[in-house]
Amino acid sequence: MNVPALRSLPKVDDLLRKIMENPESVGVPYPILLTSARETIDILRNQLIDKTIDTIPNDSSITEAALRTAKSMGSLRFLINATGIVLHTNLGRAPLAESAAEHVKRTAMGYSNLEYDVETGARGSRHTHAERLLKSLTGCEAAFAVNNNAAAILLALTTLCAGKEAVVSRGELVEIGGSFRVPDILRQSGAVLSEVGTTNRTYISDYEDAYNPETGAFVKIHTSNFKIVGFTEEVSIKVLSESGKKYGVPVIYDLGSGALTDLPPLFGPGYEPTARGCVEAGADVVCFSGDKLLGGPQAGVIAGKKKYIEKMAAHPLSRALRIDKLSLAALEATLRLYADAAGACKRIPVLKMLTADAEYLFKKSGKLLEMLKQYENDAFVFEVTETISEAGGGSLPARPFKSYAVAVTPKTMSVDALEERLRKRDTPVIGRIHRDRYLMDVRTVDETDFPLIAAAFENISDK
Ligand SMILES: *Cc1c(COP(=O)(O)O)cnc(C)c1O
Repeated sequence: MNVPALRSLPKVDDLLRKIMENPESVGVPYPILLTSARETIDILRNQLIDKTIDTIPNDSSITEAALRTAKSMGSLRFLINATGIVLHTNLGRAPLAESAAEHVKRTAMGYSNLEYDVETGARGSRHTHAERLLKSLTGCEAAFAVNNNAAAILLALTTLCAGKEAVVSRGELVEIGGSFRVPDILRQSGAVLSEVGTTNRTYISDYEDAYNPETGAFVKIHTSNFKIVGFTEEVSIKVLSESGKKYGVPVIYDLGSGALTDLPPLFGPGYEPTARGCVEAGADVVCFSGDKLLGGPQAGVIAGKKKYIEKMAAHPLSRALRIDKLSLAALEATLRLYADAAGACKRIPVLKMLTADAEYLFKKSGKLLEMLKQYENDAFVFEVTETISEAGGGSLPARPFKSYAVAVTPKTMSVDALEERLRKRDTPVIGRIHRDRYLMDVRTVDETDFPLIAAAFENISDK
């Protein structure tokens, strides 16, 4: 530990004064500046103690770091996703369609008929809003939305299976990410997990052998984030639904990724199961995310047979898990776009990005390259390179999407330093490093944001 360095850490008051002398601090409230000064010094102290640094940076870098902290407080902000991962779990998953964002704004800034029936002038239910669209798009008898898909599954299991056995295939007991594990949610619901089959093979006889008077449901989970290949056997939702009917137990399908309806070559038979396909196959309850392949807001959609859906909607837990009006507005507006499949692929950003073809992306990357070429001096080499994008969000695993990126080879700094500088800008640019080059996949970047990327390089090459 460098004790002299520790002693010469700036005093909070001194740092605060320097921050306030900087014009960039104008308009930032005093308490925020103070907290940032303290935090910056604490971070430096800890770094000295655990030896991640051994000297103190110069005064101006400390002031800059503190200002950055101050300005990032209230820290949720727009950034540029140049990773090529369309449903990036850490970058907010699905961006909304324009009409969805507008519906959110209108609903947010005024009053609405959220729980009011304008026909009768009496109290209404928020569950009715997306229902008609969900019915027509999936063919279900009834539907409503909750906070997210995890909530949807929790509600389905709690309502239909608490205190009873939920029969699940061992091959489907997945972890979704963010430590969300299907077996844990099952336990939370008060259901008793009855595992059947093996990791790679489960037959309908396994479910049927497990059936007993304590059975509450047959549960199927779409293992949307991985694929088992080779010697495998899983029971289709159709066969499982028929069996559920025979034994008089509901069949709950956690579809996860949320492909709504056939959209070849993305979803549909032979590609990715759809909510419509599952309802048609006879599933009693289908749950899926609103902000994965559906391309809407964070939400969990529950669709299926009326008798089960009504029971779930009436459960006290449904109040705690309910969707808020802004998400509901976004969901409804997104679903409306599905009325026209071709239009949906143009207007719903997730679908537009996933269906963008290689030729279009090649041209698009050429446009970004053109804008960046002016900064190609001794500092950078830019070139277009072929790359692979991913759907992300645990959707469409093992499905490579051929794409194009602008690759940057920095000449005067390391590629890690370039990555860091782009990431720490006011509008962060998030790309990825591949074999000593910095890659910006254009699939996930809106063309209208290209100038922001160019501005980032202009600024960096100045330094
Ligand atoms: C993503 C996913 C979930 C969780 O959905 P959230 O909307 O993130 O709550 C649950 N089950 C499966 C199979 C999933 O893929």
